[in-house]
Amino acid sequence: MRKAWFHVLGWATLVLSSASVSAADQPTPPAHAHHWSYAGANGPGHWGSLDDADVACGKGEQQSPIDLDSRTAKTGKSGKFHINYQPGAVTLLNNGHTVEAEVGDAADTVTFEGASYRLAQFHFHAPSEHSIDGKHFPLEIHFVNKDAEGHITVVGVLVRAGAENKNLAAVFNALPAHETPAGEHADKPAQVDLAAVLPSEHKAFVYNGSLTTPPCTEGVHWIVLAQPVEMSRAQIGNFAKIFHDNHRPLQKINGRQIDSETY
Ligand SMILES: [Zn+2]
Repeated sequence: MRKAWFHVLGWATLVLSSASVSAADQPTPPAHAHHWSYAGANGPGHWGSLDDADVACGKGEQQSPIDLDSRTAKTGKSGKFHINYQPGAVTLLNNGHTVEAEVGDAADTVTFEGASYRLAQFHFHAPSEHSIDGKHFPLEIHFVNKDAEGHITVVGVLVRAGAENKNLAAVFNALPAHETPAGEHADKPAQVDLAAVLPSEHKAFVYNGSLTTPPCTEGVHWIVLAQPVEMSRAQIGNFAKIFHDNHRPLQKINGRQIDSETY
């Protein structure tokens, strides 16, 4: 019974992935692209009715982001996932909803329950989308990793105001202020030490959720690292000047389990 259920879920996820997951992550808008936004008539409360492909945004039961309650999180077994990031070049683009750093290095991977996911891109939300014990942060970084079939594991890193983040300086000094025309990228690739961007404390909240932008596809493995990293107010301000509020509001947990993992 349990096996059959997983089989059906896996198949549904695969179909959804091939149909629509790529739409949220590709710089080039697909033919059915529509203009969702973070406020007004096309804001988060209306995403589910903007397009047939986006019904999960309104009717989904396992949506992201959520509040991560450290007191009720269950201690999971360690070794469920591993993050293997290293220094490399990224190219930047502004897709109209965030600034995205595209990663070309095939060696940047996350393994999750034995499967390998390759880092495709990372991007930013201000303020943070997830909260920990009800507390939001000025910024959140999403590292989007995909397996060969397009299944997604996202590593979320929360950012608090503090010291300048030297590891991300090359990105935050070159944020594209205007939407990048389709097919174009930053002229000069930025060098980033991705492993050094991650917090030193190896603790994370792990749960099943969704993309936080239309089409809000479910079946996404979320790994939100518990310890925030620091960036200077000037660095955070560089992003907030371009996108002052590009976060989706908190979604219902609907009985989902949140695991507290060490890795
Ligand atoms: Zn995101």
